[in-house]
Order: sequence, then C-alpha cells, then structure tokens
Amino acid sequence: MAPPRLVADLGALGLRDGDTVLVRAALRSMGSWEPNNGAALIASLREVVGPTGTIMCLAHSGVGRRRASPPHFTPSSPAIIGGLANMVLQTPGAVRSSHPTHSFVAVGADAARLAAAHTERDACFGFVGELIERDALMMLVGCTESGPGFSTVDFAQLELGLVHRTRRRPGLGAYYTGADGAEHWFERTDEPGCSRGFGNLYRHYLRAGVLHAGDVGSAYSLAGRSAALYAVDRQVIEADPTASLCDDPLCVSCRFQRTYNNRDVPGYVARRAVHLARRLPARLRRG
Ligand SMILES: [Zn+2]
Repeated sequence: MAPPRLVADLGALGLRDGDTVLVRAALRSMGSWEPNNGAALIASLREVVGPTGTIMCLAHSGVGRRRASPPHFTPSSPAIIGGLANMVLQTPGAVRSSHPTHSFVAVGADAARLAAAHTERDACFGFVGELIERDALMMLVGCTESGPGFSTVDFAQLELGLVHRTRRRPGLGAYYTGADGAEHWFERTDEPGCSRGFGNLYRHYLRAGVLHAGDVGSAYSLAGRSAALYAVDRQVIEADPTASLCDDPLCVSCRFQRTYNNRDVPGYVARRAVHLARRLPARLRRG
C-alpha cells in the first residue's frame, strides 16, 4: 500500500528507519495516490520508519471562552489543522496527547510514551523538547508556504519566555474530561500565537546547512533534524524576538499582542481603525 516512489522521496528527505518524525502536509499538493493521498503518505512514512519508529502530527482542537460556547476537548475531537492529522487520528493504534487545545497524535513505537508527557499541565509546545532530545525529523510536505515553518520555532519562543510576553486575552481555553472522569476547565497560560512568519527562518537554516528540500510526490517539501533547526531558531530569535513574526499589517498576534514588539502597536491600531471604519457602512446596511 506504500507507493515505492513516496517511500523513496521520504528517504531522500532524510527520513530513516527508527525515526520519530513530526509531519505537516498539504495533501492536495502531492498529486494523486491510491487509495488517497493521506493513506498513501501515512503508509509510506510508516514503512520508512519501521516498527521502531513513530510518526506524529499536530492535532490542535480549538480554543474558546468559557462563557461563549467553549469547545470541549475529547480524544475524538476533530483536529482543526490539516487533513493528515485527522487521518492519523483514524489510524488503528494512534494515540493522542491530552493537552486540551494543542494536542498531537502519534502512531508507532513511542506514541504512548510521548503522548503521556503532554497534558493540561504542560505548555502547548512543551513536547517539542523531547523531540529535540531524540533529534526527531521535522517535515513539511507541500505546505512550505501555506503553513510555513517548524514547531521548533514555537519551542524556541517558549524557552525564551516569549509566549508569556503578550497582551494576553484572558479566559481562552477548553473544557476537557480529567483522569477523575469529571469535566474541568483548562485555561491557557502560554500564547504560542501566529506562525505565518515561521518561514522567515528558512534562509537561516539554509545558511547553516540544516534544511533539506525535495519532492514528496509532486509536493515541494522541506525537512530538518529538530536539534539543528532549534539551534538556529534559538540563536536568531534570541538576537531578534520579532524575527519569526509574520508581515501582515493587520495580524493581531504579531502587530498587537506581543509586548516585545510594541513598535508596531501604534501603526496597527491606526490601520485597524481605518479597516473598521471602511467596513462600517456595510455593517450598518446589514443591520
Ligand atoms: Zn502574524
């Protein structure tokens, strides 16, 4: 069921027998594979890493306010990012971490052990530390621009304390069922924020020689070892905390919420006011 071409492509990107790999994918960009792109990619990943390897996907499940129809996380909540994550969730033997908003799903030898260390008590991207320790492979299949960058950037922001240097929107979280069987409210205390600027790190990875490019099917793809990627992320973001922010002038996360980027706040507030004023007549017409 694993197409030999995809298996070869994944090997050329650096994936090895026994690896742990965190994958994000834009499945439609891969071309057309039987029985479908998601199943073909999962089968190929598993074939390359073998019975001692582990494949992982982010399976974020949404965040809301306690008073306004908040989400309730269960292990079967759909992942809000990526068709691949939802297909891995359906894979027999898949294990999902219990973090109520930023869970991941894993299948393979270490899935259960990795998932057990990512609960409501842990930071959203705290688990990436374990991936760096085991030098897991980080891989983007086709989504190099549409969903740019690696979760090692989130971990660098966490380690450098940037996820707490925010104008936090208090009260964001989700309900979840605890180990005691009762319903609990989880309120997020770290703010990973916008990741649309994580591709800003690509040129630094290339300069350091730690980024591998290739095709998976017809999808342009990137991969790197997490320890090497993280070393670059950490150095670049330590020197300039704004290096991984996106360039959207109306991005509330990058232009307003980050207290280490106060320089952009006046411009953001002015642009937002103009933006709202332009939309006001239409809103009034709609009543
Ligand atoms: Zn942004």
